[in-house]
Order: sequence, then structure tokens, then C-alpha cells
Amino acid sequence: MTGNASRRRIRRAVVTGGAGFLGSHLCERLLDRGVSVVCMDNFLTGTPRNVAHLMGRPGFRVVECDLTGFVHVPGDVDLVLHFASAASPIDYLKLPVETLKVGGLGTLHALGLAREKGARFVLASTSEVYGDPLQHPQREDYWGNVNPVGPRSVYDEAKRYAEALTTAYRNSRGVDTGIVRIFNTYGPRMRPHDGRAIPTFIRQALAGEPLTVAGDGSQTRSICYVDDTVAGVLALACSDLAGPVNIGNAEETSVLALAETIRELAGSDSPIEFVERPTDDPSVRCPDTTLARERLGWEPRVPNTEGLRRTIAWFAAELGVTGDRTRAAAGG
Ligand code: NAD
Repeated sequence: MTGNASRRRIRRAVVTGGAGFLGSHLCERLLDRGVSVVCMDNFLTGTPRNVAHLMGRPGFRVVECDLTGFVHVPGDVDLVLHFASAASPIDYLKLPVETLKVGGLGTLHALGLAREKGARFVLASTSEVYGDPLQHPQREDYWGNVNPVGPRSVYDEAKRYAEALTTAYRNSRGVDTGIVRIFNTYGPRMRPHDGRAIPTFIRQALAGEPLTVAGDGSQTRSICYVDDTVAGVLALACSDLAGPVNIGNAEETSVLALAETIRELAGSDSPIEFVERPTDDPSVRCPDTTLARERLGWEPRVPNTEGLRRTIAWFAAELGVTGDRTRAAAGG
């Protein structure tokens, strides 16, 4: 794989968290581009099922490994994509210490691996480093508004620490690093019960259950289809950019409007039910993607209705839903 922004040639990549939602799509896209892939995962929130279809493809290996322990990869490595970490609120609230450990120790070990191999390192950071933002839309030079002792801090602060560690390795250890701040991404292989808004609404709509909207649903999110996010991450990986770089869709939607769109696309007549809003739930979320557009030539291409349609169709197949709802989701 050769990047546009540099003459970087990537023959072999390590993807930590490669059996998770985003990691499995990254493994697949890298293999499609002729890159050998070592997928490292301890299956804490991911599953071997996510990469089962890749087994047997030339150059693909899965290594069961906890990044917070000893990490070793024999042979050359040109790129380390560090994606290991619980990412959904349900997961990281259940696994607070594990989340902090993989953000700290796991990042340290992944950086050590990149240093040993002379590989480029890309950290999967998150829009959550902006917390409940006081700047809108969020630009990369905004420092954020995070509660360090709130329930979400285990994730937000782990990622902020991971960004600091990555920057320190770049400045004091000479590792070629990039930081990507990913905004809400959705698509096939999300878990129906992972607690994030899109899989929850889709599951509820397909089951004919009420769609549970937090608060009055006026809080906003910006959602990006997984293929676009993966293209953005790989564009950064192939460049020399240190970042941080926002990758996300700048089209902002309220959570209520999102629920209504999903209900319609799924052909469901579920009612909307308003439930209590979680502590420190951000009120707004929207990336400024000027940097990604200007420096990486990246912008999202898949319209939300199309991405949601594909995702609903995948969930319907996964959950064994047939009939009108499946046809509606597939656009039939
Ligand atoms: P996911 O839970 O599906 O994937 C995370 C993977 O990391 C899982 O397969 C899990 O088993 C693995 N993992 C966790 N701890 C590990 C450890 N100690 N050692 C080895 N493997 C470990 O989550 P995801 O949505 O695919 O997110 C992947 C990455 O992208 C995360 O770092 C997350 O913070 C970041 N991100 C995701 C989103 C999004 O919208 N999905 C947004 C922002 C940032």
C-alpha cells in the first residue's frame, strides 16, 4: 500500500483490537490493499467471529494477546494501528480499570512495538477527548471540557493520556506517530446490545419495541459510516501527519431525529420513549474536518440514509428478522 501524502510503503501491519468493530474493518481493508495483517486482540469486547471471514486469506494472522501484558511480534512491521480499547459506554463503565489499563499500558506497549520495528504508529483517539465541548464544531486545537472524576472519565482520560504518551514517544523517542480523533462511527459488526444509540435504535425498531431516546433527544451527534472512517484512518496512516486529525461526518443530527430516521428506514411503527439521560452525556458533537480535507484529501462519501440502510439490513440478517422490515431496510 502506498500513500498519497508520502512514499510510505506498507507491507505488513499490526492492528491491535483487530477483532473489534472498527479493527475488523481495518484488517479487511488492509488485506484488500495487499497488506499482510497481524490482528492482536484479547476478545474482551470483540470476537473472533468478526474476522472469521478473513481466516485463510494470505498474510492474515490472529494473535490472542492482552496488550497490557507482554507484546511481541516476530518479523518486520511497517505500521501499528492501535485500536484496542473498550469503546461503548456500556463496555467501559463495566470495565473501568481495563479501559484505563489498555489506554495506558496497552498504548505504551503498542508504541514500544512501533519503536522496535521502526514502524509508523497510529493511535485511535476519540471525539470524547473534547468531553462536553464548549467549542462547536470541535477543531483539533480545542482542549476539551472533560470531568476527570465523572463516570466517563475512564475512557476520556485514558484516551487523553494515550494522546500524551503518543506525543511523548514522537518527541523524545523519535517514533513516527499519528493521532486520529474518531467521531461516532456506525456500520455492520456493531453489537446489537453494545448500548450505543444506533445499534440500540436499530435493534428496537426491528423488534417493534419502543425506541429509547435519552433526555428530550435534542442533544446532537455526527455519525460516520464505517467505510468512510476506515478510509480516513488509512489516509492518515499513509501520510506523515502527526495530527491529531478529526475523522467524522460534519453533518449534525439530533438524537431524536436519528431515532425517527432509523424507525422509518427499518419500516417500523415502534413508539419513541424518552428515558433518563446518562451523567455527563455530551450536549453537542460535531467535527470540524477542515484538516482532514486539506491535508489528507479525505471527506465522508456515504450519505447517512445509505449507511443506515446497509447497517439495518446487516442487523436484520444478524438478528434473523424477516419480512417487511428487512425489505424496508434493504431498500426494497
Ligand atoms: P470494539 O469494542 O468493537 O473494539 C475494541 C477491541 O479492542 C475489541 O476487539 C477488544 O476485545 C479489544 N481489546 C480491548 N482491550 C484489549 C486489550 N487489553 N488487549 C487486546 N485487545 C483488547 O470498539 P470499536 O468501536 O471498534 O473501537 C475501536 C477503537 O476505536 C477504540 O480504541 C475506540 O476508542 C476507537 N473509537 C471508536 C469509535 C466508534 O464510533 N466506534 C469512536 C471513537 C473512537
